[in-house]
Amino acid sequence: MTSKSDYYEILGVSRDATDDEIKKTYRKLAMKYHPDKNDSPEAEEKFKEISEAYAVLSDAEKRASYDKFGHAGIDSRYSEEDIFRGADFSDFGDIFGDIFGNIFGGGFGGTRTRGPQRGADLQYELRLTLEEAYKGKTVDIEVPKVITCDKCSGTGAKAGTVAKTCPECRGSGNVSRTIQTPFGNMISQSTCPTCHGSGKMIETPCPKCSGKGKVRSTKKMSVSVPAGAPNGMRLRYPGDGNVGDPGAPSGDLYVIVRITPDNYFVREGDDVYVNVDLNFIQAALGTEITVKTLGGDVTMTVPEGTQNGSTFRLKGKGFPRVNSKSVGDQYVTINLITPDKLSADQRKLLEDFAKSSGFEATTKAGTKKKEKKDKGGFFKKIFDD
Ligand SMILES: [Zn+2]
Ligand SMILES: [Zn+2]
Repeated sequence: MTSKSDYYEILGVSRDATDDEIKKTYRKLAMKYHPDKNDSPEAEEKFKEISEAYAVLSDAEKRASYDKFGHAGIDSRYSEEDIFRGADFSDFGDIFGDIFGNIFGGGFGGTRTRGPQRGADLQYELRLTLEEAYKGKTVDIEVPKVITCDKCSGTGAKAGTVAKTCPECRGSGNVSRTIQTPFGNMISQSTCPTCHGSGKMIETPCPKCSGKGKVRSTKKMSVSVPAGAPNGMRLRYPGDGNVGDPGAPSGDLYVIVRITPDNYFVREGDDVYVNVDLNFIQAALGTEITVKTLGGDVTMTVPEGTQNGSTFRLKGKGFPRVNSKSVGDQYVTINLITPDKLSADQRKLLEDFAKSSGFEATTKAGTKKKEKKDKGGFFKKIFDD
């Protein structure tokens, strides 16, 4: 014991190093000298050395005793086991899981045991029309998934036979052994290699599931999409995913709402955009028109002198917002239609109108018709970029 190096020197910190510095330094060294990471023959010895130094210097009482009396202050008061017993290594839980795991087993909570596995989460895409998403809908779906085998009720043993208790772990699914470590004796627990954690041994496997206790199947269920659901909304159904191993929970089911684009309504968030045709007479004189909204037809007043491309807002006629009282609006954009067939009388009236309003009447019967306006034209202009 007389040849022991100075704890501060071992860690490479000054005598007035703070707890934080000591902790950081130890973390670095522990990563470096762990025998799993470091093949050199002296790594394990070095690892024990730094761990002991840390155990003492991280404990205020032991550190004070060491500062006063040196190694004698520690060795006379504590056994090697005691040195480690009081030390708090909980801050290294993140690295212990990986680098301490093999040496110290589960002693520090870094267990790597592969026990019964939770069932997988599943994703189900549910297609809805825009109107269904607006109103909300309860839909019956069939989800393909892994379920408990009904023939053996998940035991994996053929009907009429029973699974034996695993002789190695006596049914616990875990085996433990005591390991000598520089921190004292540690109990290492790991999954039983014979039964892989189930605690059972199947002699005659169930023919339907081949002893797995689970089968692929489909399950019917009802899902409720709230009114105003946005495209891509995720609805979580806990426990409706794949079934887990015995003793482990099932996964979750996520229903993803996919909304089919509509030919008439265009949704932007909670708002809805539509394009409405109006003939130029109506636009000039002003009128009332019926406009389709997701909540039903409404009457909208178009004032006189309305121009092509004018947009009107129908307040509160958009989508309700899920879990909120707010409601979006509907925007109506006017697409002016010019008549492409005129009777002689109509032509005369328009020519008179042109004269009275100072417009030149430039067309005559039989001249080239104006190119018919593409109905989607204005819409594209708004949304294409
Ligand atoms: Zn079965
Ligand atoms: Zn076992």
